[in-house]
Amino acid sequence: MLIGGIEAGGTKFVCAVGDKSGKVFDKVSFPTEDPDVTLANVKAFFDKHEIEALGIGTFGPVDLVKDSATYGNILNTPKTKWRNFPLLDRLKADYSVPVYLDTDVNAACLGEYTYGVGRDVDSCLYVTVGTGIGAGLVQNGKVFQGRNHSEMGHIFVPKHEHDPFEGACPSHGACIEGLASGTAIEKRYGKKGIELVDNDKVWEIEAYYLAQACMNYFVVLQPAKIILGGGVMKQEKLYEMVRGKFMELLNEYVEVPDVDNLIVAPELEDEQGVMGAMVLCMR
Ligand code: ZN
Repeated sequence: MLIGGIEAGGTKFVCAVGDKSGKVFDKVSFPTEDPDVTLANVKAFFDKHEIEALGIGTFGPVDLVKDSATYGNILNTPKTKWRNFPLLDRLKADYSVPVYLDTDVNAACLGEYTYGVGRDVDSCLYVTVGTGIGAGLVQNGKVFQGRNHSEMGHIFVPKHEHDPFEGACPSHGACIEGLASGTAIEKRYGKKGIELVDNDKVWEIEAYYLAQACMNYFVVLQPAKIILGGGVMKQEKLYEMVRGKFMELLNEYVEVPDVDNLIVAPELEDEQGVMGAMVLCMR
């Protein structure tokens, strides 16, 4: 059985075709443009393959409330051309196969849980630290959802004592996304993270914020793994720094025998999103 997967990101779309074992046979990626252009590119790819189901992990916010009149629509995104776009209905109209939809981070979490660093545990949290911050939780094979999907990038954390930056989140200013996303780093210093690699202060502040987020997620959700992915985490030294600060903040309140195996890097080389989108079809 051939399965299609789409990772619908804010900056790029990745489409892939594979099977239930996690093998990917064909893959393509292109920039996210307005909905018509982007979905025409998606269709051009899948028209070459006989897929039997299609899964999509999308940027959000998106309406995942099953009995809502706008179920499957993109909601209040800053990408104005996508605002209120009926993504799920449009894909269902384009393909005569079952279509399954979840958020990009939930799909990425499912990908790592099924094939990656979370394959041997019963729960994991996937946090993406990129242009924005978002997180998804999978527990016993099930993606956690409340009324709608979680927005774990918008929690509040205390400010670092040497950080005067007011925060970059358009809605909250200094939420964790506003303080620690790639966008926040760029706005705080006027330079991209990649140009600040040797500035230790930048990464100390970044690790301080990410450790607090990990601490909050950990005490609330108790995942067996906290997987930190996304572009900012390409600064590999952050893992050790976040682990150290996390253990300091936790202060032995909850036992963590091996923090190196709790706060970890993803394993699927940026394919967790599209692979997880395919897993959505197998459930
Ligand atoms: Zn926010």
